[in-house]
Amino acid sequence: MAQRQFQTEVSRLLHLIIHSLYSNREVFLRELVSNASDALDKLKYLCVADEAYKGINFDPRIDISFNKEAKTLTVADNGIGMNEQELADSLGTIARSGTKAFIEKLEADAKKDSNLIGQFGVGFYSAFMAAGKIEVTSRKANDEQAWKWSSDGKETYDIESSSRDTQGTTVLLHLNEEGLEYANRWSIEDIIKRYSNHVAFPIYLTYDEKEWDDKGNEKGSKTKTERINSGTALWRKPKSELSPDDYNEFYKQISHDNENPLLYIHTKAEGSLEYTTLFYIPAKAPFDMFHADYKPGVKLYVKRVFITDDDKELMPVWLRFLRGIIDSEDLPLNVSREILQQNKVLINIKNASVKKILSELKTISETDKEKWNMFISEFNRPLKEGLYSDWANRDAIMELVRFKSSAADGWTSLAEYAARMKSDQKYIYYISGGDEKTLKASPLLESYRAKGIEVLIMDDEIDDIVVPQIGRYKQTAADASKEWELKAVNRSGADEELGEKPDGKTESDAKPIIEKIKNALGERVKDVRLSRRLQDSPSCIVSDENDPSLQMAQMLKAMGQGNIPDVKPILEVNPVHPLVAGLKDTEDALVIEDVAAVLLDQALLVEGVKLKEPADFVKRLNRLLSRK
Ligand code: ADP
Repeated sequence: MAQRQFQTEVSRLLHLIIHSLYSNREVFLRELVSNASDALDKLKYLCVADEAYKGINFDPRIDISFNKEAKTLTVADNGIGMNEQELADSLGTIARSGTKAFIEKLEADAKKDSNLIGQFGVGFYSAFMAAGKIEVTSRKANDEQAWKWSSDGKETYDIESSSRDTQGTTVLLHLNEEGLEYANRWSIEDIIKRYSNHVAFPIYLTYDEKEWDDKGNEKGSKTKTERINSGTALWRKPKSELSPDDYNEFYKQISHDNENPLLYIHTKAEGSLEYTTLFYIPAKAPFDMFHADYKPGVKLYVKRVFITDDDKELMPVWLRFLRGIIDSEDLPLNVSREILQQNKVLINIKNASVKKILSELKTISETDKEKWNMFISEFNRPLKEGLYSDWANRDAIMELVRFKSSAADGWTSLAEYAARMKSDQKYIYYISGGDEKTLKASPLLESYRAKGIEVLIMDDEIDDIVVPQIGRYKQTAADASKEWELKAVNRSGADEELGEKPDGKTESDAKPIIEKIKNALGERVKDVRLSRRLQDSPSCIVSDENDPSLQMAQMLKAMGQGNIPDVKPILEVNPVHPLVAGLKDTEDALVIEDVAAVLLDQALLVEGVKLKEPADFVKRLNRLLSRK
């Protein structure tokens, strides 16, 4: 038997593993199973691709067994195996460059997070978290001779000749105190189901089951072997072999949702990047969709081995309702969760996936109205978030968001609005800041209606944040040169298309009235103007082009954003309305004051703005009503 020295880095790493890593100890089992699965993958490939391996009867399996009394746990596979040299190379050195730097980082890391292990391909060594001594017996496929590697994980290891019935590798752990908790059926099953359920090869667990006689006395035990992973890796099957039921069942398994999903998107990418994705959109928005600490729903696998289901960066935040799986062939198996976000492979998968999802949604919006409406009623809002958080995909998202409209029931897209526009219409108009009913009843819309100009009804709180981000809409479909600015109807400049400016006579007739109102309202308004927007109502408020809207200012205040300056409205009045016209011949200061205040307050009320002094409004209104 030859005693050999571990490479210095390995000794240091092992020292760290044994003395400092204690969180997530159970991952050692995942690491060993992954290695076994890799070894099977390699042999599987050779049996197909290489004449020299044609003679091998490839019946892949991974076997786990344990012995509580002897304090052992075994993971065995009949995969590719290792010869003497490979044992020494693989389990005595770390070939990866940057190992030293990594170990230094680990040594400096106060948390000693075991998720960091394996970042440099050192997964096997994590078994020393659970074992004081490890024996690896391996026989390389097509070799007769087997070898046994053994070590206590300190400075040295031994390699001696050994024997094994078939090709493959058996890893025997002599469990330490902490590792002993894994020497039972339930822990092993639990860990395997959690981390390795979709490993494509069958994983068997052998255990002893006690037997009882009729009187309830123990009469001995029987050894049983049972398969413990489902091993289906459903997402790896060709679509043609999967039924909607298969997809739906799998969705329920991974999402803990009892309802079928709204849709699924199954993609297999080949070429420079190899990966499979299976995404689901739930029928109902997850309950925590608007919680800051929502649970992300996309799991990352590498070669069918579970890596993480808790990475919010796997998908853009606005897609946080997405459920499903990314399975990459190109990531290192033990990629560190901490550096996932910077991983180029993953970034590419993420970008391609978002594009795929967006194009799929577009197809559904064009082909399946019912499904599309269900989607929009649940997910329109996160979609809108995408407009300001996902610049790269803004144009695509812009085609998907929906709004209510003054001209049509149900949902309207910007493209549909554009298609209905008058040929010379300059802007896309919208009204925001209130619920649908309030907005549709707003006097601001009167003239737009009369002119047949459609106005988008933005009744969602976040519209006021989103719309300035949209800014302009560019038609991507037929005529790409067309582009329109979105304009709020309650903005001072939004009335230019509503007809001629009041002529000189109207203007001069109304001047004394405007002056009276202006004087009466004083500091409460920014300005008082004649309106082009009003048909039936006496007054309305608009905001200056560059001010935040009143509703927006109110919302920011409610959110505790303290130093929002008071935004003053511009009051527009309808000169032909009797309430306004009546002011012409009045000189009674109290009446002028009452009318002016009521014109302003009612315009505020209709827009859903809370009055500062409702009692004052009521008092003035009653005084006007009871005037002789
Ligand atoms: P990684 O699996 O990330 O490469 P490990 O430290 O877990 O890192 O394993 C090191 C190497 O040991 C593997 O790359 C593989 O070549 C070899 N190895 C480990 N376990 C087995 C096994 N069960 N069968 C064959 N080779 C194995």
